[in-house]
Amino acid sequence: MNILVTGGAGFIGGHLAEAFARDGHDVVALDNFDPYYDRRIKEHNVEAGRGAAANSDGSYELVEGDVRDADVVDDLVADADYVYHQAAQAGVRADISPRKYDEVNVDGTLNALDAAREHGVERFVLASSSSVYGKPRYLPYDEDHLTTPVSPYGASKLASERYAMVYGERYDIPAVALRYFTVYGPRMRPNMAISNFVSRCINGDPPVIYGDGQQTRDFTYVEDILAANRTLLSTDAADCEVMNVGSTDNIAIETLAEEIRDQLAPDLDLEYTEGYDVDADHTHASIEKANELIGYEPTHTIREGVSAFIDWYRDNREWYEPLVRE
Ligand code: NAD
Repeated sequence: MNILVTGGAGFIGGHLAEAFARDGHDVVALDNFDPYYDRRIKEHNVEAGRGAAANSDGSYELVEGDVRDADVVDDLVADADYVYHQAAQAGVRADISPRKYDEVNVDGTLNALDAAREHGVERFVLASSSSVYGKPRYLPYDEDHLTTPVSPYGASKLASERYAMVYGERYDIPAVALRYFTVYGPRMRPNMAISNFVSRCINGDPPVIYGDGQQTRDFTYVEDILAANRTLLSTDAADCEVMNVGSTDNIAIETLAEEIRDQLAPDLDLEYTEGYDVDADHTHASIEKANELIGYEPTHTIREGVSAFIDWYRDNREWYEPLVRE
């Protein structure tokens, strides 16, 4: 299969591109190496994709380009059977302008959907986010929960997801939106809780918690996210559906920090700093729908996933650590 992964040099897109190339597909990764975080991490993702293709019947091509450029996107979608649209201004951050979230996440998605409509695709898979829910009315959220995002990022992901569903229904594009819940794993973005906690504890610095640490999250190991995406190559059961893709267990940030600290540097105290008001207090997914439609079943508990990440961190410390701690 010809598979286009937008945001293919990013954390999740990089893993997807690598996995698809390893499975023998012909992968094109589109990415503009947005400076949100260090480009060198993305270069490692690209290297992993190339390496996977070199050891399989698949192929891997990197195209450095922007999803905001409709012509670039159109050219690439024209040759794709499947589009995995991961490119986005990711992360809930107050210092990024709402316009940027809108241009990249909404306009960029529209460019990809327009191209899919023009050329036809086997499936269009959109990376959406738990951020579309905003403040929980009840937990765990199922997909019928109100969507009232509290950040420009969440609003942009909700808009992109709705466009994908509208294009799916109106223009007959097999579109699926996966609402990811706090994804972590090897080569993860440097500005996330787990990479920070691990990196600080391993270096004897106290892990720093934003807010009181009572926020809870479904941390989802990247391999479980890959499994959900992979399944969509071979089933139409979720077409025109939005699904939560979360993990098996939910944990408070403070507990997570304590567990990582206990494992790596038991003598350290935790440090607390001011929280972000654009962060949801709690996220917790009901994954029943994804389980029913595509048999999604996460296989990594938070403890197993964190241990796997710590092992990976130790093995890759030389290149990864300086980029996380800058
Ligand atoms: P990431 O930042 O590592 O990956 C996004 C990639 O998109 C980056 O490589 C970036 O350079 C690229 N990109 C940004 N703007 C672009 C543009 N204009 N043109 C082309 N490429 C562009 O983030 P990630 O964590 O891998 O997230 C991947 C997707 O999953 C995103 O859509 C994100 O919103 C979604 N998501 C991630 C999480 C998570 O916890 N990591 C949770 C929910 C949803």
